[in-house]
Amino acid sequence: MTNPVISLDGVTVRYGDIAAIEGFTLDVEEGSLVALVGPSGCGKTTALRAIAGFEQPMTGTITIRGDVVSGDTRMVAPEHRNVGMVFQEYALFPHISVAENVGYGVRGSDRVRRVEEVLDLVGLDNHGDRFPHELSGGEQQRVALARALAPEPDVVLLDEPFSNLDAPQRERMRRELRKILKTARVTAIFVTHDQAEALAIADVIAVMREGHIRQVGEPDDVYATPVSPWVAKFLGDAVLFDGTVSNGSVPTVLGSVPTVLPEGTDARVMIRPEWIMPSTTETGTGLVIDREFYGHDQRVEIELDEGAIIEALVPTRKAIHVGDRVDIELADSIVYEV
Ligand code: ADP
Ligand code: MG
Repeated sequence: MTNPVISLDGVTVRYGDIAAIEGFTLDVEEGSLVALVGPSGCGKTTALRAIAGFEQPMTGTITIRGDVVSGDTRMVAPEHRNVGMVFQEYALFPHISVAENVGYGVRGSDRVRRVEEVLDLVGLDNHGDRFPHELSGGEQQRVALARALAPEPDVVLLDEPFSNLDAPQRERMRRELRKILKTARVTAIFVTHDQAEALAIADVIAVMREGHIRQVGEPDDVYATPVSPWVAKFLGDAVLFDGTVSNGSVPTVLGSVPTVLPEGTDARVMIRPEWIMPSTTETGTGLVIDREFYGHDQRVEIELDEGAIIEALVPTRKAIHVGDRVDIELADSIVYEV
């Protein structure tokens, strides 16, 4: 990557004996939207707080636009890092207007113009004179975003920004957030425990577990080629089979899955439900025992002759009914060493 805006290199933050993040290494490219995603307690907020300057790492270096802001001999104060933050709770000042909230961190003579510009960007032009309590949750969240963007930060950090919104609002806001950040051409790191949210809007996702980044990449790649069964299951549905490599493949109830692992290796095969492709045929080795129709696709439960039951996600252009016999082909599969 050429000149990342933000780099974290081997950053460890401890609270007493617990390492909240450990050896955390990440480069963020100019203009990209990066999602840190992982279960509750895995260190996402800690990573953002370290970048913002609210936590001092025990080891490691944080660099913003080439300047070390946290390192062995240097700790730049939060207000001098040019980082914007949007928190889980919007944390607007309740007794001042929307415009004053947004302009709070802006210095200089073009303050009024800049406030108008960012309010326009987040779709809240004409709302500048209102007070926070006169706005909906979604609108308050936009004000918080406008306030973070107003001082033209190098990077905006967003910590679970939609957690206070209901489901339909969340989906609308996450799409809008992406548009706003792209229009503003700002670099952003976005924290969520919701893998669907991360996959849907990020350019790059960094999957975290227990203080470590387990995998970084574009959403499509990480979803299709997770580095471990854990990452696979965290990001979506996955069927797992254990077996031993024999003659260059791992035998499973869905057939033999080829692998380059050596003979005799204990292996775990991961298959996503949409990689299972049943086709109806009278001589099929599987029996469709349940089906749920979703319109765009269908979940099909198949009992194999061996007695195992598996679930496939199948496009609805393929007609499948309970009672059909099916043969199964695999579109893809991944083999892990265990
Ligand atoms: P996340 O945002 O992914 O839910 P956090 O970064 O908040 O995770 O927390 C990571 C770990 O650090 C957790 O085990 C949490 O309990 C611990 N932790 C976070 N903040 C503190 C603190 N101020 N004091 C002690 N432990 C903390
Ligand atoms: Mg958190």
